[in-house]
Amino acid sequence: MRDLVVVGGGPIGLATALYATRAGLDVVVHEPREAPVDKACGEGLMPGAVAELDALGVDLPGHPIAGIRYVAGRRSVDAPFTAGPGRGVRRTALHAALSEAAGREGVPVERRTVRSLTQDVDGVLVDGERARYVVAADGLHSTVRRLAGLEGSRRGRRRYGLRRHFAMAPWTPFVEVHWSPRAEAYVTPVGDDCVGVAVLVDGGGDYDDLLTGFPALAERLTGAPASRVLGAGPLRQRSRRRVAGRVLLVGDASGYVDALTGEGVALGLAQARAAVTAVRSGDPAPYERTWRQLSWRHNALTQGLLATTGRPMLRRGLVPAAEILPWLFRVAVNELARPVVEPA
Ligand SMILES: Cc1cc2nc3c(=O)[nH]c(=O)nc-3n(C[C@H](O)[C@H](O)[C@H](O)COP(=O)(O)OP(=O)(O)OC[C@H]3O[C@@H](n4cnc5c(N)ncnc54)[C@H](O)[C@@H]3O)c2cc1C
Repeated sequence: MRDLVVVGGGPIGLATALYATRAGLDVVVHEPREAPVDKACGEGLMPGAVAELDALGVDLPGHPIAGIRYVAGRRSVDAPFTAGPGRGVRRTALHAALSEAAGREGVPVERRTVRSLTQDVDGVLVDGERARYVVAADGLHSTVRRLAGLEGSRRGRRRYGLRRHFAMAPWTPFVEVHWSPRAEAYVTPVGDDCVGVAVLVDGGGDYDDLLTGFPALAERLTGAPASRVLGAGPLRQRSRRRVAGRVLLVGDASGYVDALTGEGVALGLAQARAAVTAVRSGDPAPYERTWRQLSWRHNALTQGLLATTGRPMLRRGLVPAAEILPWLFRVAVNELARPVVEPA
């Protein structure tokens, strides 16, 4: 019987498998899609995620990111990272780099979609195969979360993300967040000749139509699309708990607030590391507390920003307020950028 089945071979599933291999566990990843797997994402890795991936032996391509810039019309304000550079990495390039690291460490990846899961006191049966533990990293719409009875309520705003690339040299090393009355556009440098633009919006919509809400940005991007539009959502996903017996949830499968603050990968990596520590100790229950300790800062800041920007007047005032109080904006950004670590 294997020690661990990781369901989902996205970035957090592959990272979980890497941590597990390093911890001496016998692990397999079940992922139905051929590598490199693509996904709608802002593609900006916070400095903490860059450091964590480096320590995992993942060789990251892409473009350095110096910080976050908020833009509204002619107004803009910068928050440079103080914990070293982040990195803009195309999703397929990130997945390829993680797959390569997993291959080097001998992590088996089986092309399978997990459809059934039952458990008893001694183990978990995943599509008929027995393992001691399961870590679910199967994304926003996690099948395992549902099968393990951990699905949370579906209340709240239904926000969606849409992403496309444009063939052009980045005009800044900052991730620019452009604000319109209806949506936000994230511009991330992901290479010397490529930028990614992710648009976040309530209820979804047509990508080109949404871009017209950012006239200066839309004009700059005209004629340069370099990939098809990919979408994801609703972004808000809840789990009731993160542990059910021998099943643990990590990454987006464990719940997601919004892409507004862009550190899903950093947080997911910290959760993956903590889940493997719990599995290795033979007692998954404490992972629930660790998950809360790791996630609260990110969740509170993201929920606060979402609540603020959900009100038209406050939304209009956000960038002017950040211009007046740049130190506050910089503190908030660097709170999110610092490494996500387990409390001692
Ligand atoms: C628009 C948008 C912008 C974002 N911007 C950023 C950003 O700039 N920076 C950042 O850090 N984060 C960002 N995020 C968040 C980030 O994309 C996620 O947090 C991250 O992808 C989570 O990785 P994951 O491995 O948990 O899930 P995923 O990447 O979704 O991977 C899940 C994997 O599970 C597989 N799977 C699904 N069901 C099954 C099944 N039944 N059996 C087996 N496998 C299965 C899927 O094929 C997939 O490969 C953004 C998200 C969105 C939507």
